[in-house]
Amino acid sequence: MSTLRFYAIKETLNRKPIKIEENERRSAIFGLNVFNEDTMRQYLTKEAFVSVMDATKNGSKIDRHVADHISTGMKEWAISKGATHYTHWFQPLTGTTAEKHDAFFEPIGNGRAIEKFGGGQLVQQEPDASSFPNGGIRNTFEARGYTAWDPTSPAFIYGTTLCIPTVFVSYTGEALDYKTPLLRALQAVDTAAVDVCKYFDKNIKKVNASLGWEQEYFLIDSALAASRPDIVLTGRTMLGHAPAKGQQLDDHYFGTIPSRAMQFMRDLETECMLLGIPVKTRHNEVAPNQFELAPVFDEANLAVDHNSLLMDLMHKVGERHHLKVLFHEKPFKGVNGSGKHNNWSLSTDTGVNLFSPGKTPMSNLQFLTFFINAIKAVNDHEEIVRAAIASASNDHRLGANEAPPAIVSVFIGEQLTNVLNELQNVTNGKLSPEEKTDLKLNVVGKIPEILLDNTDRNRTSSFAFTGNKFEFRAVGSKANCANPMTVLNTIMARQLIDFKIEVDALIKDKNLKKDEAIFNVLREYIKLSQNVLFEGNGYGEEWEIEAEKRGLSNHKTTPEALKAKISDKAIKLFDDLGVMNRVESEARYEIEMEDYIMRIQIESRVLGDIARNHIVPVAVRYQNILIKNVKGLKDIYGDDFKKFGQEQLNLIEEISEHIASINSNVTLMIDERRTANKIEEIDKKAEAYCFRVKPFFDDIRYHCDKLELLVDDEIWPLTKYRELLFTK
Ligand code: ADP
Ligand code: MG
Repeated sequence: MSTLRFYAIKETLNRKPIKIEENERRSAIFGLNVFNEDTMRQYLTKEAFVSVMDATKNGSKIDRHVADHISTGMKEWAISKGATHYTHWFQPLTGTTAEKHDAFFEPIGNGRAIEKFGGGQLVQQEPDASSFPNGGIRNTFEARGYTAWDPTSPAFIYGTTLCIPTVFVSYTGEALDYKTPLLRALQAVDTAAVDVCKYFDKNIKKVNASLGWEQEYFLIDSALAASRPDIVLTGRTMLGHAPAKGQQLDDHYFGTIPSRAMQFMRDLETECMLLGIPVKTRHNEVAPNQFELAPVFDEANLAVDHNSLLMDLMHKVGERHHLKVLFHEKPFKGVNGSGKHNNWSLSTDTGVNLFSPGKTPMSNLQFLTFFINAIKAVNDHEEIVRAAIASASNDHRLGANEAPPAIVSVFIGEQLTNVLNELQNVTNGKLSPEEKTDLKLNVVGKIPEILLDNTDRNRTSSFAFTGNKFEFRAVGSKANCANPMTVLNTIMARQLIDFKIEVDALIKDKNLKKDEAIFNVLREYIKLSQNVLFEGNGYGEEWEIEAEKRGLSNHKTTPEALKAKISDKAIKLFDDLGVMNRVESEARYEIEMEDYIMRIQIESRVLGDIARNHIVPVAVRYQNILIKNVKGLKDIYGDDFKKFGQEQLNLIEEISEHIASINSNVTLMIDERRTANKIEEIDKKAEAYCFRVKPFFDDIRYHCDKLELLVDDEIWPLTKYRELLFTK
C-alpha cells in the first residue's frame, strides 16, 4: 500500500496544468448547446414555437401533433451540432442524474437507415425504473415509472447526446424524482403569491421563485484520491491525522487560485457557458484546496437543473485535469466543510423582486408583507425546513463542531429588527391618520435607505436575509437543491394563503381598510415569529440553550431530523397544497432513511477494513522492527540494554495498546452492525446505525491516527492529510 501512496505523490508532483484555450468571448458561446428561445425560433414552425413558449410560461399542455413538429426541429438542431443520441434526463431520488441514451439512428430495411426522433419519444419514455429508489411506491401500486418532458427547462446537448429534462413519475402519478414536487411547489407559491400581490398591483399575473446557489467543493489530485480507499468509496477521509499546518494561517481564502485548479475552472466555465449555466464567480474557500463557484441566479427549476448538471460536469471536467472533485460536506476532519448556500427570492412578471424594498411606502408595504410572511413560514415550519437538508454527510456540519447549527433561525440585521419592533406597536384595529402618516414616513418609508447601507452579515445563521433575498446556508454541498427549494416554496405558499384569508377577514368583518388590515396581520405575525428570529452567534453554546427555551428543534442527526417529514403536520402541509400526497411523503422518508442506513453501513465497512487490513498490519510490521532493534541492543549490551532501548520498549507497548483497541472496537462495531441489520423497522434501524454503530468511528479513528504519529512514515500506507491537502 505504501508503494501506492508514494506512486500517487510522484504522479501528482509530475502533473502540469492543462492549457485551456479561450478564443471566443463567453457571451458569444453562452447557450450554444441549449435549445433556447432563439434556437427554437430558427428550428421550429411558428405553431410549434408558440406552443412551447405557452407551455414554458403558462404551463399549458402541448398537443401531440405539435409535439411531432417540435421533436423534428429539435432533432435537426441536435444533429447539426453533432449529437447522435437523445436521452430523457431526470433526477431520481439517488441524488444524482440519470440518463439512458437512445440513438437517433434507425434501420428502415433494405440495408438503409435514417435518423428518427418522434413526438412520442420527446414527450414520454419508460426507462426500466425498477432499480431506482421508490420507497415502496411501485410495489404498492404495481405500477411502472415513466419520464415526461418538462418544457420549462430547455433541452441541451451534453457531449454527443441531446438531453431532455423530464419528470419521473409512477403510472399512478406519484413522484419518483426531485423535480415533480418542486414543480408543484413552484406552482403553489406562484398562485398564492399572485393572490397576495393583487393587494398591491392588479397587473401581476405570475410570481417566480428564484434560486442562486453557491457551490463549494474540494479538488484533490485524482491519483492521491485513488490511493485512499475511504475517499474512493465514501467520498471522504475516515481517518488521517491533522497536518501540522491546516487552515489556521487563513492563507487560502480568496488567495491566488492554484494553476491546476485555475485551468480546471476555466475549462469548466467554458462548458458551463455552452450549456447556458450562467456561472459568474469563482474563488478559493477557507480550507486548503477548497473552492467555490456561483452563477447568476435563475428561475428555481432551471437553477436546480443547472446545479445537478454542473455537479456531473465537474466530475467530467475534473477527469481531464486529473482532479477529483469532492462534494462531500466534510471530506477532511479539522478543516472547514462544504455547503451550498441557496439564495432564494420571489419575483413578479412585472419585474419586481418581492424581497426587495421599493421606492414608495406602498411598495415597501409589499416588501414587508412578503418579508414577514417568509419569516413566519420558517418560524412555523422550522422542523420541516431542518428535515429538508438532513443527510448522513451533512450531519458532519450541522450540529457537529461546525456551522451552521442544526437549529433553524432567521437573521435579519439590526435595522430590520428595529422596523419589526416598531411595527409591533401598530394599533389594534383602525389606525388614526397620524399613525398612518407616521408609519409611512418613519417606518415603512425609511426602509430603502436603511437596506442600501445594510452590510450587516451574520455568517453563523442558517437562514439569513441579505438585502434582497434569503440565504439558506445549511444546505449540504452534495445535496440536490430541489429538496430545500420544494420545502421553502411550499411553506411560503401555505403562509401566503393563510395571510390572505386573515387580511380579507379583517377587511370584511372589521371593516378595515386594506393597508390597515395588512398592518394588523403583520403585527401579529411579528409577535408570533419571535422564536425563530435570532441575531446573535449561531455557533455559540448559549444559543443552543436559548433555542431550547424557545422550543426550537435542534436535531443533530438525520434519523432524528427526518421524522418531521412524516409528522401529521408535514403530511397535511404537502398534501393540502398538492405538492406531495401521503404516499409520496412517506416514500421519501423511507428512501432517505434507507440512504442514511446504507451510507453509515458502507462507512462502517470501509473503516473496519482499513483499520484491520491496512493499519494494523503496518503497525505490527513497525513493531517488529522495534523488537528486532531491542533484541539487537540486548545482544550488544546484555542486561544494560534498557538504558538504550527504553523508548523503543515504550513504543512497542504503545503500539500494542492501539492495536488492541482498534481490534476490539472493530469487533464490537461489527457486532452492532449485525444487530442493526436484523431490525425491520426503518427508523429503529437508522437509529441503531446512528447511535450504536457510528460512535465507533471516532474511537477507531483515534487509535489509527495515533499510530500514524508513531509508525515510520516510509511504510505508512495511507496518503496523509498534508499530502492530500497541500500537493498541488
Ligand atoms: P455572497 O453571498 O457570497 O456574498 P452574493 O450575495 O453576491 O454572494 O450572491 C450569491 C448568490 O446569490 C449568487 O448566485 C447570486 O446570483 C444570488 N442572488 C443574488 N440576488 C438574488 C436574488 N434576488 N434571488 C436569488 N438569488 C440571488
Ligand atoms: Mg452567500
